Amino acid sequence: MLEDETRVRRAVSAIPFAVPRNRWSDAEAAGMSPEGLLLYRSNLLGSDLTVTNFGGGNTSAKIAMADPLSGAPATVLWVKGSGGDIGSMKLDGFATLYLDKLLGLESRYRGVAFEDEMVAYLPHCTFNLNARAASIDTPLHGYLPYAHVDHVHPDAIIALAASSAGKDATDAIWGGAVGWLPWKRPGFELGLQRRSLR
Ligand SMILES: [Zn+2]
Repeated sequence: MLEDETRVRRAVSAIPFAVPRNRWSDAEAAGMSPEGLLLYRSNLLGSDLTVTNFGGGNTSAKIAMADPLSGAPATVLWVKGSGGDIGSMKLDGFATLYLDKLLGLESRYRGVAFEDEMVAYLPHCTFNLNARAASIDTPLHGYLPYAHVDHVHPDAIIALAASSAGKDATDAIWGGAVGWLPWKRPGFELGLQRRSLR
């Protein structure tokens, strides 16, 4: 019993992780375009070190747009491209890809031993001749069936993920509401595995 109390006292006096606060302003966001809103939230997330470590994370939105050539409706994945960080990026930091072309790459995928060849297909999915190269995170964001996907690297979660009993601790804390994937290098395979974790 005494041992438990000592443990609790120690835990309480440990340095707590800072809790992020909501810095979104409806007034600032009013009137922004869908891609402007994506940039706005990206800058907010990336400039708060309680949310993501320096330079870490990626943000995306699937936005309905008109094809610049045919005028036909297209769903476009806006996702931070190679380089830069979400805290200071500008709109030109996003790669833009036709979502249907990106999803269609699954039919070309020959398995994890060949996932490097998928990188060469990404430029073929470019929307509107955007010169910003799509990053290795693109499948991770594209294959999740949600309009808005942000992934960040909070120190608090990294501490859990990097600890030897991280999976057990994650299950104990969130009771199954938070998923766990073993470490996997970024790429196509990770995107598919993440999709099936839902
Ligand atoms: Zn990341």
